[in-house]
Amino acid sequence: MEDCIFCKIINKEIPAEIVSEDEDILAFKDVNPIAPVHFLIIPKKHIESVADLEESEELLAGKMVVKAKKLAEKVDISKDGYRLLFRVGAHGGQEVPHMHLHLIGGSKMVEDIYPLPEKI
Ligand code: 5GP
Ligand code: ZN
Repeated sequence: MEDCIFCKIINKEIPAEIVSEDEDILAFKDVNPIAPVHFLIIPKKHIESVADLEESEELLAGKMVVKAKKLAEKVDISKDGYRLLFRVGAHGGQEVPHMHLHLIGGSKMVEDIYPLPEKI
């Protein structure tokens, strides 16, 4: 995808602090971290969001979660715990339209506030 910022990171057209790379998945530091550890785990294949995942891509999605778990162990936040987060689409607050898994940890997370919609 030409205009996708995460595809540009995959193609090394723009820099990122890469923490893990294999043939299917790239992981790099979030440029605007909200915790001491904040990585983004992305598929190299351009998939816009979880909502666009095909059944044939379930192994890929699983690999992203296992990658996050291994990275958490590597940076030693596994014992204390961490948060994994997929934002999906507009209501989910997704800003970058290339599916990504946030790995957030290194300090205790303050609970999110979920505003109630005016109408359901
Ligand atoms: P979203 O809100 O879509 O779930 O999260 C997008 C995340 O991507 C944000 O946390 C944001 O800081 C991060 N981000 C956006 N642009 C870049 C970039 O060019 N490089 C890196 N490393 N992270 C980015
Ligand atoms: Zn992309």
